[in-house]
Amino acid sequence: MFDSHTHLEEDLLKQNRNEIIDEFIQAGGKGLLNVGYTIESNLEALKSASSWLSYPEIVVKTSIGLHPTIFCQNSNIQNAITNYNQTRKVLDWLAEKVKENSGALSAIGETGLDYYRINDEIPDTSDRAECVERQKIAFRRHVEIARENRLPLTIHTRDRIDESECIRDSLEIVCEVGGVGGIFHCYTGSLDYLEDILGAGFLIGFNAIITYKSADNVRNLVKETPIESIVVESDAPYLPLRKKTIQNNRQNFGKPSDVKEVIKSIAAIKDLSETYVTQATSSNFKAVFGE
Ligand SMILES: [Zn+2]
Repeated sequence: MFDSHTHLEEDLLKQNRNEIIDEFIQAGGKGLLNVGYTIESNLEALKSASSWLSYPEIVVKTSIGLHPTIFCQNSNIQNAITNYNQTRKVLDWLAEKVKENSGALSAIGETGLDYYRINDEIPDTSDRAECVERQKIAFRRHVEIARENRLPLTIHTRDRIDESECIRDSLEIVCEVGGVGGIFHCYTGSLDYLEDILGAGFLIGFNAIITYKSADNVRNLVKETPIESIVVESDAPYLPLRKKTIQNNRQNFGKPSDVKEVIKSIAAIKDLSETYVTQATSSNFKAVFGE
């Protein structure tokens, strides 16, 4: 069992690191991808990369990148990047960090495009257009960095409700740069783009959302995605399992061990055994991020 997208540098996970890793191993966890998404979390992820050797039962792989929402002016994320000059500088910084640490890295990301919050957070339309433009510049650069360093991508795309502009723009960028693969993590968009995503050489990362009552559309994506193109992820600590499945003594935040429940759901949706889904998603993880 492999968790293909988790944020171990977040306080909620970091404060209970041993416990959380133990729980993951107990649940059958063999490895995970620790994903940075801000300057600070990337530095932390790089710093802890070698410390994972003290957990011989699991393989912890590292990915660094800059989440699209940090390129928006009114983002809740601290230290937002609010102009073209800063955007260029932070991307140069990232390229340099990747070069310096290429041996310690298994992927580039979290990167991508996020149009979901732009309308609410940025009232002015020309600011909004600039934010989209800078997100695109940043994403394109991540894809180029991934190609140059022969690393896969972990991509976040989030559209506004009932729109598909974000996934269209994302696919256009990965296809224009070309020569890269990886994961569209937490894809919850339209089924219409599934074929294009898979055709571009990407897999889909499914998480606890598929256990949520309201997520029929995502369960439908699970149904339509061949098992060879699926990886599982926790996106911890951001996506807790549906409350019903959380026992009383557990706090309500996502943990890598939650992928066990995600595997169970996929097995039920696709009418496959849990063992088969575990094996398939594990070998898919290894095919993308290495042994
Ligand atoms: Zn994430």
